[in-house]
Amino acid sequence: MTKVISSNLGYPRIGEKREWKQALELYWNKSITEQELGVRTDKIRLNNIKKQQDKGIDLIPVGDFSFYDHVLDTSIMFGIVPSRFHYEGGKIDLDTYFAIARGNKDAVASKMTKWFNTNYHYIVPELKNVTPEITENLPLKYYKEAKSKLGVDGKPIFLGPLTFLKLSQGYEEEDLSDLIDTFTPLYITILQELEESGVSWVQVDEPIFGMNLSEYELELTHKVYQSIRQAVPSLKIIIQTYFESVTNYQSVCDLPVDGIGLDFVHGDTFSLLKKYGFPKGKVLAAGVVDGRNVWRANVEQKLSLLEEIVRYSDNTLIVQPSCSLLHVPVSKTLENEIDPIILDRLSFADERLEEIAILTKGLRTGRSSIRNEIIESNRSLHRVKESSYRENQNIKDEITSLSEADFTRTLPFSERIKEQRKQLGLPLLPTTTIGSLPQTQEVRQTRIKWRNGEISGQQYDQFIQQSIQKWISIQQDIGLDVFVHGEFERTDMVEYFGEKLKGFIVTKYGWVQSYGSRCVKPPLIVGDVSFKNPMTVKETIYAQSLTDKPVKGMLTGPITILNWSFVYEDVPRFTVLNQIALALRKEVEALEGHGINIIQVDEPALREGLPLDRDKQPAYLDAAVYAFRLATSSVKTETQIHTHMCYSDFKNIFNAIDNLDADVISIETSKSHGELIATFEENTYEKEIGLGVYDIHSPRIPSLSEVKQNINRALQIISPQQFWINPDCGLKTRKEAETVDALKLMVQAAEEIRESY
Ligand code: GLN
Ligand code: ZN
Repeated sequence: MTKVISSNLGYPRIGEKREWKQALELYWNKSITEQELGVRTDKIRLNNIKKQQDKGIDLIPVGDFSFYDHVLDTSIMFGIVPSRFHYEGGKIDLDTYFAIARGNKDAVASKMTKWFNTNYHYIVPELKNVTPEITENLPLKYYKEAKSKLGVDGKPIFLGPLTFLKLSQGYEEEDLSDLIDTFTPLYITILQELEESGVSWVQVDEPIFGMNLSEYELELTHKVYQSIRQAVPSLKIIIQTYFESVTNYQSVCDLPVDGIGLDFVHGDTFSLLKKYGFPKGKVLAAGVVDGRNVWRANVEQKLSLLEEIVRYSDNTLIVQPSCSLLHVPVSKTLENEIDPIILDRLSFADERLEEIAILTKGLRTGRSSIRNEIIESNRSLHRVKESSYRENQNIKDEITSLSEADFTRTLPFSERIKEQRKQLGLPLLPTTTIGSLPQTQEVRQTRIKWRNGEISGQQYDQFIQQSIQKWISIQQDIGLDVFVHGEFERTDMVEYFGEKLKGFIVTKYGWVQSYGSRCVKPPLIVGDVSFKNPMTVKETIYAQSLTDKPVKGMLTGPITILNWSFVYEDVPRFTVLNQIALALRKEVEALEGHGINIIQVDEPALREGLPLDRDKQPAYLDAAVYAFRLATSSVKTETQIHTHMCYSDFKNIFNAIDNLDADVISIETSKSHGELIATFEENTYEKEIGLGVYDIHSPRIPSLSEVKQNINRALQIISPQQFWINPDCGLKTRKEAETVDALKLMVQAAEEIRESY
């Protein structure tokens, strides 16, 4: 009989009410000491472990906690600090740690990029010129803590060598083998210390196995795990994969470790299991409930799946979520305004753990032992199916009646741009920003007051107008060429539209970590999406009424809204995508109808949703491109469509970007240290483009020469007729004074460079 145990792969760090974020930001503002930060975060971390224990999880992860990001923690553990931070060995202090992530007055931060296909961002390890050494065995530290303080025999987790190195930068591909040789002994030491301290299970994360690895890389993988196996023979090591089925299934299953963790929610793992089986004697860790979505599991269906899976395993079967619960909110218990039909269908991290416990019980002691839970889960499913959320025939008809012409602008770019230039009359190297302007404490507090009914809607609108007015005049003073209204009315670029479109529901505390202390609150898509009323017209035309300079309309694009929402599970994603696009098309038309000549449709999440498996990428990109074009193609020739993207690696998506057919694209660039420019060197791109000229994720104000250098570097590859000058991304998180200073510098740089043409 196979033994069945329950496990978790990682728990959200942020706390039920984002206490973690508050603590970090207080520390950064110097309002609390390092010691106080420690006290606060210890409490959150131990409470998280305690909760998992109370929910009856057998293998509780330790080492999933972080002060910023777990990839950065891995770098720190191995003493990887870029030379510009002047590290000289030994334990790395907290301020250096934060400086690598956020930059400081003397040095720019490390690059930050998306963690696989999620909206979580990690800090890219810089391996150039560093000599790795162990500075601190972090998994061990957290293991000991859980053991001594809570009596929990945790499961240390950390990032495996292949994934860590593949996510790093600063080396050539042919050096991978040498690097593996360098890191193997370090990994061995970490594992040996864990073994000596009495650890029974460890989870080594290797999500890279969801991507297409070469034969050579697979060989290296076998080599490193062989060495590890020999050095730590009795530690139970599980290699954990997630976000996709494993592309080299047999090779990964054959790795010399005790167990393999597979994702049975994303990808086709079950087919692989049926086709190739599972190696004898190995532990199969089955991720059967979704760690990336918030819909309550269909207990009956999941149990049936587990009953099938268990037949392939002759050792222990571990029941667990598909990935770390880092990607879902903490607990639904605080939600008190959601329609009970929907609330009943929700499962955040805490509720997922309950599902794990139920399924484990069902598998151990038989279906009848969880009969009530099965009935309850089925009942809640039916309630949604029969609710009014599900059907909107009109919108379905509208989508089916679309034709090719609805996805294509009347004239090609080369013709459009002439009309647009005539209409807009902008100087060479036009300057603009990406959309949001600083959301001060006052802006946030006023919104809360309005939400709590302390001020009226009219008073709130007035406040928003004042903010717009203030910043139109600031933009005037700075001398920018294309203005924005500032997005003061938006908490978040997706949630805002979620509040205004039909088919969406927003949560109160459904926060998920995006990068550092920054959290987002993805809305829920519960039914067919459609346009109700104009969503951005009021603020945009008010801003336009105050100036002769063009004000850009500002929308979030369809694939970004889709990727940054929790889509109800039985709705096909591409259907929802087109519904969102159609709604946005109506908004675009409304803006244009009110005289707005430039409309920006942001798609920062285009790259993010790209499937890990190469074979699945074209279908996704086509869908994303079509949706964008559906949203933006009905405008007049002289209306200029902009788009914006951030933290992206454009390697495999260049054609898709070109096919969006946006007249102007602005891209975050300086945070990726100019790497992006190479993409434009290798490909010809005829449309207009703004490569961000300074990093906005850091409080650091760039120097004039730095900004000019960034512009000049881009101008070596992109013609000045094509080039726009803008910051990397929205300025929402920045302070007012630093924003004004930085933008003034940017405009000055543009003016000085213009003179040379
Ligand atoms: N227009 C948005 C803003 O400026 C874009 C944000 C983003 O790309 N993430 O805030
Ligand atoms: Zn951006």
